[in-house]
Amino acid sequence: MIGAGPSALAAAVYTTRENIETVLIEKSVIGGLAAITDLVDNYPGFEKGISGLDLSQKLQAQAERFGAKIELDEVTAIEDGGDEKIVKTLEGEYRAKAVLIATGSDYKKINVPGEEEYYGKGVHYCATCDGAFYNDKKLVVVGGGNSAAQEALFLTRFASHIDILIRSDWKASDVLIEEIEKHGAITVHKGVATNEIVGENNQVTKVLGKDKSGQSLEFPTDGVFVFVGLYPNTKFLNSSNIELDDRGFIKTDANLMTTMPGVFASGDVRSGATMQIASAVGEGATAALKIRQYLEGR
Ligand SMILES: Cc1cc2nc3c(=O)[nH]c(=O)nc-3n(C[C@H](O)[C@H](O)[C@H](O)COP(=O)(O)OP(=O)(O)OC[C@H]3O[C@@H](n4cnc5c(N)ncnc54)[C@H](O)[C@@H]3O)c2cc1C
Repeated sequence: MIGAGPSALAAAVYTTRENIETVLIEKSVIGGLAAITDLVDNYPGFEKGISGLDLSQKLQAQAERFGAKIELDEVTAIEDGGDEKIVKTLEGEYRAKAVLIATGSDYKKINVPGEEEYYGKGVHYCATCDGAFYNDKKLVVVGGGNSAAQEALFLTRFASHIDILIRSDWKASDVLIEEIEKHGAITVHKGVATNEIVGENNQVTKVLGKDKSGQSLEFPTDGVFVFVGLYPNTKFLNSSNIELDDRGFIKTDANLMTTMPGVFASGDVRSGATMQIASAVGEGATAALKIRQYLEGR
């Protein structure tokens, strides 16, 4: 399995319990994006929420209890050797009868002062995950594409007011733009560059920007949601024949198998993923059962 985020860890619980020898190759943090999430409030079974790190450690312990092995290394390529898939890494190579790619995706950053400092403490990239923390609060949304428009509309369920900062002009669909522009709780600021996220006592207080004439602007806020795009972790597939969609996410069939037979994909890296831990875990379990079927049918 490539990656050791929630999707691969969940898959590993299933494959190891089926006595399928399972190795997870992880290049950075065991638990993936979930491990660096402060509070996960929407994962079923934890009525008071759970810290992302705790959830990751529980998933890791459960997978290891059944015999999953986790290796810290980075996968650089996959080759189709017929019955055996060859997984190349920085440190060597692995040979496997089946492979699960669960390498997730990363949120694009705007790279301004304060963004990293207040990450998870007022700076967010996922409205479904963190929107509910902003009941009756003021928010800034950065971005002008479809996802920024959709997520801003979703955030109006919680926030009392939202300022949307768009560097140039909308790149969203007309229907969404119309809905936003007539929404009483949203103000759109086009041609505004976001320059800094400012806070006090571990809490975001305002966003600083500049309009096209160079005039400085200030937007007092309780939080900032950045929606400037996502990139899937699929660069290492460039030399393979595994088909990707136009945004670089992995295409799969109904069995979560990619266009390379015996190679499966699950979680945030998969085309059509919903970018949630519960979905990533569910897809990991499905992929594991489909891998078992594939191995039995060989
Ligand atoms: C700030 C933040 C808050 C979030 N809050 C929530 C929330 O409250 N609720 C919720 O449901 N979801 C939340 N999410 C989304 C959730 O974290 C993801 O949907 C989930 O982690 C996806 O799991 P995954 O296993 O598919 O991918 P990931 O968690 O991204 O794991 C993929 C792993 O693969 C590794 N990897 C990548 N490339 C390679 C390679 N070439 N070789 C080896 N390893 C590699 C990565 O290092 C990573 O550890 C949040 C995300 C963020 C960023």
